[in-house]
Amino acid sequence: METDADAELDPDTDDLPLRANIEHILVRHYVLDLTVHLDRRVISGNVVLFLEPNGTEAGALVEADDQRGIASAKDVEKPRASSKKASSHSWESSGGGEDFTLVLDCCDLSVSKVEEVDITSVSGWPGCSARTDEVTLHRPGSTLAQTIMSLPSERWKLQHQLYSQCSSAPSVQDQEQLRFFTDRWSLQVRKRGVRSPHNFPQVLRIFYETTPTGGSLRWTQDQDLRSCVYTAGSPINNRALFPCMEPPVAMSTWQAVLRAPAECVVLMSGEEQAVPRQESSSGFLIWFYYVTMPMPASTLALAVGHWHLVPTASNCASSSNKAENSAPGEGCSDVADSLQIHSESQTTRSEFAFCRSSPEDEDPVLTDYSGPLDDGISCSHGDYPCRFSEQRAMSQQEIPHRVFAPLCLLQRAQLVLNLLPRCLAAAHSVLGGHPFSRLDVLIVTAGFSSLGMARTPPPPSMRVALSD
Ligand SMILES: [Zn+2]
Repeated sequence: METDADAELDPDTDDLPLRANIEHILVRHYVLDLTVHLDRRVISGNVVLFLEPNGTEAGALVEADDQRGIASAKDVEKPRASSKKASSHSWESSGGGEDFTLVLDCCDLSVSKVEEVDITSVSGWPGCSARTDEVTLHRPGSTLAQTIMSLPSERWKLQHQLYSQCSSAPSVQDQEQLRFFTDRWSLQVRKRGVRSPHNFPQVLRIFYETTPTGGSLRWTQDQDLRSCVYTAGSPINNRALFPCMEPPVAMSTWQAVLRAPAECVVLMSGEEQAVPRQESSSGFLIWFYYVTMPMPASTLALAVGHWHLVPTASNCASSSNKAENSAPGEGCSDVADSLQIHSESQTTRSEFAFCRSSPEDEDPVLTDYSGPLDDGISCSHGDYPCRFSEQRAMSQQEIPHRVFAPLCLLQRAQLVLNLLPRCLAAAHSVLGGHPFSRLDVLIVTAGFSSLGMARTPPPPSMRVALSD
């Protein structure tokens, strides 16, 4: 499968290969469960994929007979001796050339295990039990996944709750059946004897670790010289952060649990501000984010570091005198103060709001934009809770916004914070309603990808003066 041309490809100058076999199968939802290790410069954990066959069963079978899709197993069977690869032991010897291959786009990931998740053990299917029972009899497992993926948008909370429960379900016992292989640009998975995407497992769990030199993450130091990491608009997108499908048509929703050192803040694209909770065993904080709008995997943004919330003029006024005389890390910008960290006995608002609420028992804190069109705006996309269908959201000139910065730049970052309301209102007047419900701005260190190389940084002595 990996040609010589692919191996020599330079992501800085060439088009990226699109390997994911979206003609046959699509990822509908990702559940990421990751731990950030700033000391080792890796992120480790797992991602659970919810997969849906693409096209009709008959069509897929004909296609598979024709050419085995772009996931041609023929070349994979003879990987080049020099290519760096990870593989379950039986890939080459399996003789599985007739089996269907799921192909995901990825790069520089160290995959340790791929398993099929047994979601039949998931209990508590509020509101959809009748239908579930019916389809379970037909074909366990995969049809439960189908039931979840096809829930209508007004039931997105139930859907996300079920995604979450399924993602922590145990694996299917007979794991000998599932094999995987990685080359430079892809992860490939087969199940022995499964020749069609329609019979392929619909819920897969992939255990992996990023690599310190992987191209999706920038591991560096902030302006206070403290460790941080963020996705920095990489030419390889997020392929070195999690295995995904990159072709533009492959859009998915996702939810993510991130564990990070307690003194760090975790910022991520998502529909709500996360309220972290403490994990008593590790001392780490756990952050939860999610989106309900299907989006390309490349739009997922993540940043973890020792940043502080830039206080608004009003909430800083009461403690400004104290802050002036306090040591770094104190004052009104503490993560703990500003983000209301919960103890383990409490819960994050988002994560467990899903678990508590039935569809009839909507948590009023969570904004649900799934109401009927009341503004004459109609969208032609698939079914999801769309802000454009909600007049209240569309007339919102200013969405909730925050600015995060390293301690030495907190004062100066006030300028950015003060400008944002006017910027947001201007954008609204020119472009119309904001497509997303909130905005976080992070002041990162100078770097080529953040256009920070446009001018020479000041000499070290001047930097000290600035930070004082
Ligand atoms: Zn819409």
